[in-house]
Amino acid sequence: MYRSRSYKKARKVTRTGKNVVHYRRAKNAPHVCAICLVELNGIGSSGGKSRRTNSRQFGGVLCSRCSAEVVKFGSRVEQGEIKLDDVGTRYRAYVLQLVAH
Ligand SMILES: [Zn+2]
Repeated sequence: MYRSRSYKKARKVTRTGKNVVHYRRAKNAPHVCAICLVELNGIGSSGGKSRRTNSRQFGGVLCSRCSAEVVKFGSRVEQGEIKLDDVGTRYRAYVLQLVAH
């Protein structure tokens, strides 16, 4: 019926005994942190922009703990205490975004 796979199929038997297929829209997966995969807090599904994200750096992408780590590593790389290669691979791309500015 529908070509889109984003509709979930549910097979139902009607009261008259017919087999029919009902389609319903699948819910979106919860937003998760790109580094530690924990579910993000403060992310709503409806409302204005500020209800659907948070205004922190990396808001809506990283959780608060991981973004704090990234900021920490970023300042250490800028100060020359550590090199970018010393930062773990999961953090490196985000640290690079901070340092590049
Ligand atoms: Zn995280």
